[in-house]
Amino acid sequence: MKDFNQFNQLKNVEQKIFELKKIIEKWNQDYYQNNNPSVDDYFYDQKLKELIELEEKYPQFKTDDSPTQNVGGEASKGFKKVKHNIRSMFSLKNAFNQGDLIHFDEQIKKILNLDTYTYVIEPKIDGLSISLNYRNGKLFQAITRGDGKIGEDVTKNCYLFENLPTTIKIKEEIDLRGEVYISIDQFDLLNQKRMLENEKLIQEKKKILPLFANPRNLASGTLRHLDSDIVKGRKLNLFIFQALSAAKKSDYWDSQIETLNELQKLNFPINENNIHLNNINEVISKIDDISKIREKLNYEIDGIVIKVNEYKYHKLIGYTSKFPKWAIAYKFPTEIKKTKLLNIFPTVGRTGKITYNAKLERVNILGTNVERATLHNADYIKSLDIRIGSYVYVKKAGEIIPKVISIFSLQDNEKNNRWAESTNCPSCNSKLIRFEGEVDQYCLNTNCIGRIIESLNHFVSKKGMDIEGLSKRQIETLYNKKLIINIFDIYNLKNKREELLNLERYQEKSVNNILNSIEKSKKNNLNQLIFALGIRNIGEKAALDLARKYQSIFKIKELNLEELNDFNDFGEVRAKSITEWFKNPLNLKLINDLDNLGVNLKYIGETIDKSNRLYNHNILVTGTIEDANRENIKNYLKDLGANYKSAPTKNLDYLFVGENFSQAKVNKIKEISNAKIIYVSKLSEIK
Ligand SMILES: [Zn+2]
Repeated sequence: MKDFNQFNQLKNVEQKIFELKKIIEKWNQDYYQNNNPSVDDYFYDQKLKELIELEEKYPQFKTDDSPTQNVGGEASKGFKKVKHNIRSMFSLKNAFNQGDLIHFDEQIKKILNLDTYTYVIEPKIDGLSISLNYRNGKLFQAITRGDGKIGEDVTKNCYLFENLPTTIKIKEEIDLRGEVYISIDQFDLLNQKRMLENEKLIQEKKKILPLFANPRNLASGTLRHLDSDIVKGRKLNLFIFQALSAAKKSDYWDSQIETLNELQKLNFPINENNIHLNNINEVISKIDDISKIREKLNYEIDGIVIKVNEYKYHKLIGYTSKFPKWAIAYKFPTEIKKTKLLNIFPTVGRTGKITYNAKLERVNILGTNVERATLHNADYIKSLDIRIGSYVYVKKAGEIIPKVISIFSLQDNEKNNRWAESTNCPSCNSKLIRFEGEVDQYCLNTNCIGRIIESLNHFVSKKGMDIEGLSKRQIETLYNKKLIINIFDIYNLKNKREELLNLERYQEKSVNNILNSIEKSKKNNLNQLIFALGIRNIGEKAALDLARKYQSIFKIKELNLEELNDFNDFGEVRAKSITEWFKNPLNLKLINDLDNLGVNLKYIGETIDKSNRLYNHNILVTGTIEDANRENIKNYLKDLGANYKSAPTKNLDYLFVGENFSQAKVNKIKEISNAKIIYVSKLSEIK
């Protein structure tokens, strides 16, 4: 009997392993070959981990074709396949908690039998790995990761990167490795652009283009795009984190931190959040810090990579069949739990966009009670066939809003009725509109109470005017009492002191706090105000760029579409949003009212963005620039805080070469200086 049970149990394990292999292979194919991930990353990692553990426990069922035996992703067809010559591209083992990190460190300590090693941590960019081969100081070949041994030759497209130097001062053959990505700002902008294009296509009765799903997929699709104009327009970026010498068949420098510093000196893009640390405890505490700033970064990260800094130890520490043992990828904590979906309800945002939310049976995820999760839009709910009353999986990742990621089982789901989307605004009951080509539904009623409350809430929010003491609930109360129905009323509230004190739960002290906070906000900087106004497509960064450049809201008001379009990287979508906003007489009145109330409408402080790479560097421009004369160029560089040079000097940092340039002159500058040479045709390309 005992034998029989054991036999049965083994049969079950074998079946389980078989199923895991099958599903992971399918996911791999979707991810690597089709560039279309069909499963949540965390879920994938969990299942892979489960398979690895089962195979370790029952090695008799481990086969050579198991997805645990190769990294996943053969090179796709369409691009030339090329071998990674100097060294294969490894993937890293994952760590999911502090325990995994401590175990990782203990293993290293055991092997080395010393503790003089240190660590370097780097944000794990959610992009695509690439290997760049330089020969004789020039970019020779760029290869995607592929299966780690063979990738695709995407050299042509790498010349179109935003921030990749195509020359290097090192003459011997070297491989630089890094991660390609598209910034979140750029991703949003490309989708906005696509919506504009779709409007035109609809008018012409043509088929519309789908929106991009996420920055990672977009970067992947772009890197392997065959049309170089499209690649250029999408603006790929990358971070470099490794340099390998062909002669040595190993790292070019001696440590990770030296590699990062030297690459930075050579003008290669290095992530600003890389840190050199003494031990694993420092690593653990820094990871916490980085996870807190995660949402502020302009690129997506899904964890932190931890590497032993000193390369001399790497060989000693060694490799498993799949991973290096001197590095590990810590994944930000994420947890998935099963619970019952009690209801689906829509909410309206300040732009009128409808978001669907799930009311859940209370469940504890990552230590907090979760009763609500996002369902995004109607398409999302329908594509996952989520139904009220069904059991669902809910995922929580750090501080990010919990999200329903799938139904629990088809059988359970079928017991309930199919869900139907709302047709009317949950706040004002207007009929909801869906623009063709967009997945979201909108309430277009500008007098919609839900939208007004959200706009006011945005205005007083921390990133906006930062008015303390006015929560969304209080705004609702004050709105219902007709004390605040628009932005002007917020600043007029001090004249309604008596009415405030008559309200329930409003004491002298809390009223004073609110009024003081409102007064204080009048001195806020212009960029805060611009952001707070909630102009479509104008986020924090765009608000700051505008404020810095134009200094006063009255100047911004006077700008036309063309001027805004030409301004740096602003683009037509944002330019249009700004001009439209200032066309509305109500908005013009608001600006005048704010001025009369004494709200600051000028930019205070540093006018130069010191993070631009030309800042404080010596620049020479030779040849002709299509849309600018010498004087324009001079002023443009002055605005960037760069030093304009009219003649070659040996301290030159950048040489921008326009059309019809003299090769002799360029050669001469190459001889006397180490300037980085960049070929451009338009003024905006000088950056
Ligand atoms: Zn409405």
